[in-house]
Amino acid sequence: MKAYIDRLERTRDLTDAEFRALLEESAPADRDYLFARARAVRDRTYGRRVFIRGLIEFTNFCKNDCRYCGIRRSNPCAQRYRLDKAQILACCQAGYELGFRTFVLQGGEDPYFTDDRMADIVSAIRASFPDCAITLSIGERSRASYERLFAAGANRYLLRHETADPDHYARLHPPELSLENRLRCLRDLKAIGFQTGAGFMVGSPGQTSGCLVQDFRLLQDLQPQMVGIGPFLPHRDTPFRDEPAGSAERTLLCLAIVRLLLPRALLPATTALGTLADDGRERGMNAGCNVVMPNLSPKDTRKKYLLYDNKRSDGDEAAEGLAALRARMAAAGYEVVVDRGDYPME
Ligand code: SAH
Repeated sequence: MKAYIDRLERTRDLTDAEFRALLEESAPADRDYLFARARAVRDRTYGRRVFIRGLIEFTNFCKNDCRYCGIRRSNPCAQRYRLDKAQILACCQAGYELGFRTFVLQGGEDPYFTDDRMADIVSAIRASFPDCAITLSIGERSRASYERLFAAGANRYLLRHETADPDHYARLHPPELSLENRLRCLRDLKAIGFQTGAGFMVGSPGQTSGCLVQDFRLLQDLQPQMVGIGPFLPHRDTPFRDEPAGSAERTLLCLAIVRLLLPRALLPATTALGTLADDGRERGMNAGCNVVMPNLSPKDTRKKYLLYDNKRSDGDEAAEGLAALRARMAAAGYEVVVDRGDYPME
């Protein structure tokens, strides 16, 4: 297994069978070695600096019906809310004072937020916080829409591909959504000049090691600047309520493999990982991550943006818990920095 890991680091590639062996047959000592290599590769570009992103969950209205997601349109139990421009700007102001230099606007696919409204919000943030990066995570839109948001001042876009296997994609999503359009969006975003984030859930219903190998291939092909990877966690008001959660171990394995595939990628230790395991953030860092995304949303709305059961938004998942996060990261040997944390140019 060590030979595979060394070759993965050197060539950023393995055969399908070798990827599968790494996922299925690695012993604890192999994983420790993989994690050590992932840390070394990360340290070469980023050292022990950890970038923070202030996450603003600005709407949980959604026109889509993804089977895994707690804010899917056919969940009548979701208490819907929207933040207005002034509330979003207030979140940014609070975040700026805490030391955030990236704001991530995430939401369901809410038709209320037309291109006009989104461009207006992005321009206002751009004008008020010229030294900050603006990341959007608002789903699938037209190329023209992405161009407009980029022109308004957005710099980055997160759009997990969720799974690179078309049949698996169809199991997770309603018929009107397709992997093909998801990938069209990702390619448009990258071509326009966004630092673009793809990614997937680990352990979603029906996912095999073969699916994960296809995810790795997609990342090799797309070369995104960011990759969001977290465990699938069930939500009680979705069709997947009785499905088992993904495992932290397997998530960490995927994170470390992706660090070796894309050495300079921005790789968050996700909230889902922090929800599944108390020490998820630290274990993510140990597997090669270099980003965390604490919650900057107003406190009363956080409980409503429930993508999965028990989603954490307190303690060091919360922006105001930054001191606690800093302390935990310092104890693990990492330094949370005040920085935009862009993908390195070259
Ligand atoms: N509407 C936006 C944002 C989606 S929410 C978009 O389409 O991109 C952000 C991410 O949360 C999703 O991409 C998905 O990977 C993750 N997510 C949703 N439901 C989840 C669940 N039940 N368990 C774990 N992750 C989930």
